Amino acid sequence: MTDTVSLTLAKRRSEILAELSAAAHPAPVLVAVSKTQPDEKLEAMLAAGQRVFGENKVQEAQAHWADRRAKYPDLELRLIGPLQTNKSEDAVALFDVIETLDREKLARALAKAMDKLDRRVPVFIQVNTGEEPQKAGVLPDDLEALLACAREECGLDVQGLMCIPPVDEPAGPHFALLAKLAKRHGLTGLSMGMSSDYAVAASFGSTHVRVGTALFGAR
Ligand SMILES: *Cc1c(COP(=O)(O)O)cnc(C)c1O
Repeated sequence: MTDTVSLTLAKRRSEILAELSAAAHPAPVLVAVSKTQPDEKLEAMLAAGQRVFGENKVQEAQAHWADRRAKYPDLELRLIGPLQTNKSEDAVALFDVIETLDREKLARALAKAMDKLDRRVPVFIQVNTGEEPQKAGVLPDDLEALLACAREECGLDVQGLMCIPPVDEPAGPHFALLAKLAKRHGLTGLSMGMSSDYAVAASFGSTHVRVGTALFGAR
């Protein structure tokens, strides 16, 4: 990796941080989505000071981060992709936050994994705000029941909600809906906003924007 690339990534990061600061007070946390990125770019982003990263696959996240933990004890790893119940233990062992809880079966599997590993990992619930059949996430109408299961039956620390708006619609109404649902249920975390709409998400009260392409370049 040339120095030029490191400089480019550092510059993109500081520009995005500045945009986020201009869009909201306090500014949301920038989650650098490092899926499919080569080691050189991960190192460049770490060198630029980035410590919060999002990954959407457990195995790839292990390959990216398991060995880097020792060198960067202040890393925060967030799972932002769908999780199969049989990967719950691996996910609990690696991640600091799991953003994609979307069904009761997974809530139970995560609780069991946390008990077994004696490691409490906070979660966000993914909400399918666009009610798209192919998309992960609990439907807005089913959120209350899942939340009750996660909190009361499973004893999970639910910190917020996450959404991925439909690609072909303006994101604003989806961000507004997610913020409304979070408020109704006393949740303060809002993971919303990606490369194309992180500033919009910040203006709707996002606490965590998940940015890949705008930070690292095309995947
Ligand atoms: C890949 C991914 C992102 C980042 O997408 P960009 O458009 O590259 O910023 C954000 N959230 C989730 C859930 C993703 O899978």
